[in-house]
Amino acid sequence: MDEKQRIEQAQIKQVNAADRKSGQDKPLHEKTSADFAKYFETTYQPPNINKARKRGREKIDVHYDFDIPEDMRTIGEGKKFLIRTYGCQMNEHDTEVMAGILTEMGYEATDDTNKADIILLNTCAIRENAENKVFGEIGHLKPLKLENPDLILGVCGCMSQQESVVNRILKKHQHIDLIFGTHNIHRLPHLVKEAMFSKANVVEVWSKEGDIIENLPKVRHGKVKAWVNIMYGCDKFCTYCIVPMTRGKERSRRPEDIIQEVRHLAANGYKEITLLGQNVNAYGKDFEDISFGLGDLMDELSKIDIPRVRFTTSHPRDFDDRLIDVLAKGGNLLDHIHLPVQSGSSEILRKMNRKYTRESYLELVRKIKKAMPNATLTTDIIVGFPNETEEQFEETMTLMEEVGFESAYTFIYSPREGTPAAARKDDVPMEVKKQRLYRLNELVNKQSAESMKSYKDKTVKVLVEGESKKDPNVLAGYTERNKLVNFKGPESAIGKIVDVKITEAKTWSLDGVMVENTVEVK
Ligand code: SAM
Ligand code: SF4
Repeated sequence: MDEKQRIEQAQIKQVNAADRKSGQDKPLHEKTSADFAKYFETTYQPPNINKARKRGREKIDVHYDFDIPEDMRTIGEGKKFLIRTYGCQMNEHDTEVMAGILTEMGYEATDDTNKADIILLNTCAIRENAENKVFGEIGHLKPLKLENPDLILGVCGCMSQQESVVNRILKKHQHIDLIFGTHNIHRLPHLVKEAMFSKANVVEVWSKEGDIIENLPKVRHGKVKAWVNIMYGCDKFCTYCIVPMTRGKERSRRPEDIIQEVRHLAANGYKEITLLGQNVNAYGKDFEDISFGLGDLMDELSKIDIPRVRFTTSHPRDFDDRLIDVLAKGGNLLDHIHLPVQSGSSEILRKMNRKYTRESYLELVRKIKKAMPNATLTTDIIVGFPNETEEQFEETMTLMEEVGFESAYTFIYSPREGTPAAARKDDVPMEVKKQRLYRLNELVNKQSAESMKSYKDKTVKVLVEGESKKDPNVLAGYTERNKLVNFKGPESAIGKIVDVKITEAKTWSLDGVMVENTVEVK
C-alpha cells in the first residue's frame, strides 16, 4: 500500500460532543466501546506468536517523500508548541521528530504551558503508573483549555494505540482536541490543521503498522549526543508487554539510510550516537534482499569518524556471535551492554515467553565477557510476575550477583490489558511484590556502589554534556561505560571528551577533577 492509499484509508474521524446535527450519531457520553472500535479494526487483538509470524511477512515500504503541504508551512507562524514526553528513548526521539515537523510549520518551542498554542502529550503505556501520570496531566490542562479555547491539546504515543484509552479520553476528557497514534506522526501537519479549523475532536490511529518514513525533519535535543532509530516495532510478544501492540511489527531501516544519518551527525559535530530499537538485535531480520544484521551495521559504523556508538535495547535471544566479534574490536563501539534479563528463573522466563533460560542467558554473558573482559553489563528486571514464588524471586537475586550487573532498571509487574499475562490469576500480594522490589533494589545499589568504587583514583574519559543539574559550577557527563561523572572544569569543555581523575565514588555517580590540558579524543 503506498502513502496516497494509506492517506485515503486513514481512519480520520471527527467527534464533536455537541454535534447531534446528523440525528444518527449518538452524543459522546452515550457512545459505547463498539462505537470507538472502528479506529482499531485490525490492531486490537490479543498478541500471539502465530500472528507475529504472519504479520512479519507483510511487505514494508520505505518512503522518502515526506513533505509539508504548501498551505501548512506557515500555519504556526507567531505560535508556540510544547511537547511533554513520557517513557522510553523511542518516545524522546519521536518527540524530536514532532518538534521538527512543527518547527517546519512555523511554530516555535516553549516550555511554558501558558504561552503554548499547541500542547502534545507523547505518552507511554508500558506500566499502569505511566498511564496514570498522563491522565493526571490531562486533568491539569483542562483549565488552560477553558481559558483559551483556541489552544490545541493532543495525546499521542503508545497510549493512543489502545482502544480503551481512546474511549476514556473521548468520553471523560472532552477538552482533548487531537488523538493520534504512533504510526501517524508524519500526518501531524494535516491533523493540526484539522484540529485548528474543525473545532471538533480529531482522532487518527492507524492500525496498519508497516511502513518506514525516512525524511522526517527533527529538532534534536542537544548537540552532543543523538538518537538514531535503526528499527521500529517488536515481534517478540513477551506475555507481559504491550509494546508489540503499540509499536507494531519489527521493521528495519535500510543500512544506507542509517549510515548516511550517522555520517551527517558526525559532520555536524555530534560525539555520540545511540542506535535505537525495542530489540536492536533483530535488526535486519526482515530484509528480504540482503543478509545484513546488527553486527554488520556496527562494523560499518565503526568506520565513521564519530567517537562513541551505543545501542539499546538488546534482547538476549538475538544476540549473535557476529555482533560479539564486532563489538570486541572496540574503537568507537562502546563496551557497555544493556541486556534485559527480566527474571533469573527459567520457569518465569518461559511464562514470560522470553525464549531463553537462566542457563542460556548466563552462557551468553560468559561469551560476552570472554570477548570483552571489561564490558559493563546492565539490565531490566520485573519482580512479582503472576504467581512468582519466593524461590523464583531468589533466583533473580542470585543471577543479579552471578552476572555482576552494575545497574538495573527494576519494576513491579504491571498487568496490561490485552496481554496474555494480564489474564492470569495472580496469587502474589502487592505487599510481597513491594518487599521483593525493595530487596532487589538494595542489591542493585550495593552492586552499583561496588562498581563505582573501582574507579577511585583512576582517570576516565568523559563526554561533557553540560552543567550539573544540582550545581551550575559543576560540569557533568558520562564515561564510555555510561557512568555519570560530576567535576569542576571550564565551560569550554562542554561538548568535548576530556580526561577526569576520579576523587570520590558514590552509589550512582562519580566525582572528579579534570586533568589539565586534556585534548579532545577523536
Ligand atoms: N525491548 C526491551 C526488552 O525486551 O528488554 C524492553 C522494552 S520495555 C520499553 C522496557 C522494560 O519495561 C522491559 O525491559 C521490562 O522490564 C519493563 N516492562 C515491560 N512491560 C512491563 C510490565 N507489564 N510490567 C512491568 N514492567 C514492564
Ligand atoms: Fe516488550 Fe521488549 Fe518483549 Fe518486545 S522484546 S515484547 S518490547 S519486553
